[in-house]
Amino acid sequence: MNRNATLDRLLERFALLGGRHYGEDVTQRAHMEQSAYVAAKDGAPDALIAAALLHDYGHFLQRRGEDAADHGIDTHHEVIGANYLARYFPESVAGPIRLHVNAKRYLCAVKPDYHDSLSAASRQSLVLQGGIMTAGECAAFLKERFAEDAIRLRWYDEEAKRPGLAVPAAESYRPMLLALMAQRGQRKRPEKRRARA
Ligand code: FE
Ligand code: FE
Repeated sequence: MNRNATLDRLLERFALLGGRHYGEDVTQRAHMEQSAYVAAKDGAPDALIAAALLHDYGHFLQRRGEDAADHGIDTHHEVIGANYLARYFPESVAGPIRLHVNAKRYLCAVKPDYHDSLSAASRQSLVLQGGIMTAGECAAFLKERFAEDAIRLRWYDEEAKRPGLAVPAAESYRPMLLALMAQRGQRKRPEKRRARA
C-alpha cells in the first residue's frame, strides 16, 4: 500500500472512532487535535507535532472498550499505538508516543503539583499504569532516547482537554505526515544493506 493510501486509512479512524470520550470532557479526536495545536503553538518540530496528534492513537486500535480503566484494565494504548505507528513513521514520532505514559509517571514523581493538575481520568489510569515512578525508575526513564520529547508531549497532552476549543482538523496535517512517512523510508535502506552484507 502506498503512503497516501496508508495515511487515508490512518486518518479515517479519527472520523470513525474519534467521537469516543475515554473519561475526558472532550472527544478523543478533539483531544489529539488540540494536542497537535498546542505543540505547534509551542514551536515543536514536525515530528513532535505529529507525535502529539497521534499520541493516543492506540485507543483507536485497542479492543477493551473506552471504559476499560473503570474495569481496572490498562490497555497499554501507548505501546499499541507506538508499535502500529512505527511501521509508517520514524522513531522521532513513535518514540515519544511509546513513552508518554511513563512521562506522566515521571512528572508525578518530580513535580508534586503535576499530579494535582491531572484530570480525574488521567489520575485513575495512572494507578493502573504503575503509579508514580520510584527514584530508580525516574533515573532509568531519563536515559531513554525520547524522554525529553515525551515530557514535552505530556504537557501538550494535559493542555488539550478543553471543551469547545476549535483547532485545525487531523486532516490538515496530511502534507506534514506524508513528509515524515517519507523520512522513515529513507532511513530503512542502509539497515537492509548492512543485513545482507
Ligand atoms: Fe494517552
Ligand atoms: Fe492524551
